[in-house]
Amino acid sequence: KIAIASICVGYLAVKWNGPSFDPESLRGARVLVTGASSGIGEQMAYHYARFGAQIVITARREKVLQQVTEKCLSLGAQKALYISGDMSNESDPDKVVDFALEKLGGLDYLVLNHIGVTRFAMWDGDVDHVRWLMKPNFFSYVQMAWRALPSLEKSKGSMAIVSSMAGKLSNPFTAPYCATKSALNGFFGSLSHELAMKKSNVSISLITLGLIDTESALKAVRGIITTPAYPASEAALNIIITGATRQSELYYPWYTYVMNLFKDWYPSLTRHLIQNALNYDP
Ligand code: NDP
Repeated sequence: KIAIASICVGYLAVKWNGPSFDPESLRGARVLVTGASSGIGEQMAYHYARFGAQIVITARREKVLQQVTEKCLSLGAQKALYISGDMSNESDPDKVVDFALEKLGGLDYLVLNHIGVTRFAMWDGDVDHVRWLMKPNFFSYVQMAWRALPSLEKSKGSMAIVSSMAGKLSNPFTAPYCATKSALNGFFGSLSHELAMKKSNVSISLITLGLIDTESALKAVRGIITTPAYPASEAALNIIITGATRQSELYYPWYTYVMNLFKDWYPSLTRHLIQNALNYDP
């Protein structure tokens, strides 16, 4: 009972102790969102648009990006532009940041959200895939953050790094993905200390998400995971608020916060629950 009470108090303290969100602070804000042709990134683009921000979005599919920018303009974005890019390619991450800096005259928010395509399956020994996935899911994040940092420094800006519960707690069927998300948590956790110690103007928000109802996620886990998926639009709004209020972390939905504590308190039970929560018959 004491453990449950402390979890609840901890979660509510994290939730309510944050500064309050002023939607007006996003009017005219200059934002770059990656992975915005679908899923959570697309929903973030629509929220920023409703708040009257100036947005650049990116992903690989140009046609879809064009449709998303059109919808952003109809929802109230002051500006909505797109640039296609492949984040597994070495030069595209810099190209995308440079485009946003030029078209918006600087950046207030950098939201790194894209992921490369990977299988939800037992690891089959494909080392090349692990090496490849690090490019879009990790190296491009590092590259874009570094490129945008001087402008964010000038604007007292923020970065949001969209990670996952898989970066805190390893799950089966996602070994390469877990590795990239753990790398993000390690790198950006360290960088956020360094920026704070240097009295930098830039804040970093690390985002821990549980299962969200995007098409790609639901397709991947169908028949294997039966836990409920939370709405992408709500996840997107929570990420935006976390960045705008310069909070260092977001756990969404609530159970990710509990699982993160639980895994260190009860490691064997956690392993048992994880392995038995999945439908798998060897
Ligand atoms: P989606 O698959 O819906 O979207 C992924 C986005 O990344 C798309 O816009 C896709 O567009 C883009 N993308 C894919 N490959 C590349 C590439 N090589 N270069 C550039 N862009 C690329 O993902 P979600 O919305 O579900 O996930 C968004 C974030 O949330 C991710 O960081 C994910 O890890 C995290 N998350 C999601 C969870 C979930 O359950 N949905 C759970 C935990 C974390 P295009 O194909 O046009 O390139």
